[in-house]
Amino acid sequence: LFITFEGGEGAGKSTQAARCAGYLAERGHEVVATREPGGTPTAERLREILLDGAVALDPLEQVLVLYAARHNHVTGVIRPAIERGAIVVCDRFSDSTRAYQGAAGGVDAAAIDAVERLALGGFGPDLTLVLDAPVETGFARVRDRGGAADRFEGQENAFHRRLRQGFLDIAAADPERCRVIDATGGPDAVWQSVRAALDAVLEA
Ligand code: C5P
Repeated sequence: LFITFEGGEGAGKSTQAARCAGYLAERGHEVVATREPGGTPTAERLREILLDGAVALDPLEQVLVLYAARHNHVTGVIRPAIERGAIVVCDRFSDSTRAYQGAAGGVDAAAIDAVERLALGGFGPDLTLVLDAPVETGFARVRDRGGAADRFEGQENAFHRRLRQGFLDIAAADPERCRVIDATGGPDAVWQSVRAALDAVLEA
C-alpha cells in the first residue's frame, strides 16, 4: 500500500504523515515513512538544488529535476518497500508537481504526463490525502513556526490560490484515489479526519 499526503504551504502534511506512520506501525504494519522532493541521498541533493535558490530553474526544468529525483526514490526505496509488503507513507509525490509546476507554474499537464510515463511507468499511490486550507491559514502557520514564510510571501498570492485549486482539481478528477481533508482545524481535529479515511481503506 502506497499512501501520499499532499497540500500547499502550512497545510500540516508533515505532522499528519508522521501520525499516520505511527498509527500504522502500532497496528503491526511495516511502515516506510519518506518525503519528496527527496527520500534518497541522491534525491535529497536534487532537493537542495531545487530549493536553495542558488540556481534558477524554470518550471519545466523543475519538472525534469523532480522526476529524476522521483525515479531515484521510487526505484531505490518506494517500490522495494511495497514489494516486500510494507506500507509506504510519503509526504508529497507526483501531485505536488502537477499542482506547483503544472496548475500554479503553468507547465502543460500533457508534458507532465509524458515525463511521468517515462520516469514511473504507471506507478503511483493507492491513497492520497489532500490537506486543504485557505492560503492565509497556511501562511500564518509557516510564520508561527518561524519558518521560511518569506520565500512564499515573496511569491504572488495568486500562485498559491492556483496551487490550492490545482490540488482540489486533481482530487476531483480521481475520487477513487484521493480524499480531500479539511485542514483548517488543529492537528488533533485534522488527524480524526485522516484516521477515518485510513480506516476506511484498511478495512476495505
Ligand atoms: O513539503 P515541504 O514543505 O517540505 O516542501 C518543500 C518546498 O518545496 C515547498 O515549500 C515547495 O515550495 C517546494 N516544492 C516545489 N515543487 C514541488 C514540491 C515542492 O516547489 N513539486
